[in-house]
Amino acid sequence: MEKLYEGKAKVLFPEGPDTLRVYFKDEATAFNAQKRGLIPGKGVVNNKVSATLFRYLEAHGVKTHFLEEVSDREMRVLRVEILPLEVILRFRAAGSFAKRYGVKEGTLLRAPLVEYSLKSDPLGDPLICPEAILALGLAAEEELSQVRTTTLKVGELLRDFFAQRGLDLIDFKLEFGKRQGEILLADEISPDTMRLWDQKTGEPMDKDRFRKDLGGVEEAYQEVLRRVLRE
Ligand code: UDP
Repeated sequence: MEKLYEGKAKVLFPEGPDTLRVYFKDEATAFNAQKRGLIPGKGVVNNKVSATLFRYLEAHGVKTHFLEEVSDREMRVLRVEILPLEVILRFRAAGSFAKRYGVKEGTLLRAPLVEYSLKSDPLGDPLICPEAILALGLAAEEELSQVRTTTLKVGELLRDFFAQRGLDLIDFKLEFGKRQGEILLADEISPDTMRLWDQKTGEPMDKDRFRKDLGGVEEAYQEVLRRVLRE
């Protein structure tokens, strides 16, 4: 079938007028696609982890674009108009945040912190403040307020979900879309878009293993899937 769009980790295929099929690839990129590689089995893990988390969030009142899993690597979702924002929620300092403010990775923040970046590959997804989002018309005030409230709720729900599975949720990235005037949680929620540390060992169990060449990348993705499905 004709592709609608191919991104770094996923391919979108048109389905009905209202729906898309998302195919999850094994290709991995980091540092604005300067680093590229393959994580065998990643597509299957990300599809299943995302599907499970979307179902869990829906069951707790979060509206998402997710409809159903259609194969190991594919899900069906509602078509939405993606807001050009990456919404990041942080519980502990890590990655670009730890570097920007010169704090040790793992430092617990006084309260969960919501940050936004502008989705733009040529600009390298620069940090953007809420006032600039409104000034540029990237989202309306009511939409941004809903995005923030939903992100904090998703954070609490996911932190509990992973804590029950021996994983510490450090931070994550969400994307939202608009459909018929409604804001829906979209994109994916997977070890590509979260930082998860094993509660016992403190070892990263996410894409940082690939970013930092820590080894055991495939194994970490499989272990996250196993714990998410509680096998
Ligand atoms: N993240 C993401 N896509 C991006 C940038 C970040 O999914 O383009 C996720 C990342 O995996 C982490 C969180 O968002 O869980 C915060 O990432 P950070 O801003 O620290 O950036 P990074 O260090 O990944 O560049």
